Amino acid sequence: MILDGKKIAAEIRGELRTEIDAIKASGQRVPKLAIVIVGHNPASETYVNNKLKACAEVGIEAVKIAYETEITEQTLLSEVHRLNNDGTIDGFIVQLPLPDHINETRILSAIDYRKDVDGLTPENVGRTVQGLPSIISATPRGIRELLARYQIQTEGRHVVVIGRSNIVGKPIAMLLMQRPYLSLPGMSAASLGDATVTICHSKTQDLGAICRTADIIIVAAGSPGLLTADMVKEGVVVIDVGINRVDGHLVGDVDFDNVAPKAAYITPVPGGVGPMTIVSLLQNTLQAALNR
Ligand code: NAD
Repeated sequence: MILDGKKIAAEIRGELRTEIDAIKASGQRVPKLAIVIVGHNPASETYVNNKLKACAEVGIEAVKIAYETEITEQTLLSEVHRLNNDGTIDGFIVQLPLPDHINETRILSAIDYRKDVDGLTPENVGRTVQGLPSIISATPRGIRELLARYQIQTEGRHVVVIGRSNIVGKPIAMLLMQRPYLSLPGMSAASLGDATVTICHSKTQDLGAICRTADIIIVAAGSPGLLTADMVKEGVVVIDVGINRVDGHLVGDVDFDNVAPKAAYITPVPGGVGPMTIVSLLQNTLQAALNR
């Protein structure tokens, strides 16, 4: 069965639209998001445009703040401080990657965690780890929501996460191993968690043997065709986070054609995790606005 991220994301956008219409109808200000983009990386420009479009669709006000590649770290830091203090902005993101001369960690750490709708500040990550109310980064939030909406239970199951990045691998592993007390406004199943999680990465030995013991595999490696049919057991659930461009086509990290027949559930690329990531940013923005 296909885990249809596109369909679920559309459903969630409908729910958000209703909620934001109600906010408007009650005379309150609608949530407002700012997106800071530096330079002209074509992938980043596409992502930012998609985010702006998604905001418009649900009634979130969004502004794009664009800087040239040459911007100094100091000027960008000043912009972050300005947005932290701008009472009309509920949340903002700084689109990554940043140019080499700018220290990403320094920029992300300067964002007020209450406005950090990408959930990437050390405060939000630390709060997530401790099970405190936090803003969860968009891709892990989207994966969790997708599992929840398809009622895929994680309790006691073996989840293998391939990839240990700060934006996907580490936080999704943390969320799925937690006791299920971390419920979010608008999140359908607080019951997700309680899994036994193994995190694999580029130095892991015999990835296939580990994956064959998995009930759920989440692949976020950026390596096309990494997960093959011989690496999965029958009835596995496969979440493919990878986005790779091969011969002009977008593909994930999973050999979809051969893995899908063995899987109980699998996400397509595109149309799986990608749309869920964008809609999670919208949910995070509403959450940040409601928390103020
Ligand atoms: P990353 O690119 O920072 O790092 C890749 C990780 O995969 C590393 O931890 C590395 O150790 C591991 N890895 C690489 N090759 C491996 C191998 N052969 N075996 C085992 N582990 C291996 O990670 P990221 O930023 O999470 O991105 C991963 C992929 O997910 C990329 O394709 C990215 O474009 C995609 N992505 C998609 C979304 C989405 O919304 N769908 C969001 C974020 C990232």
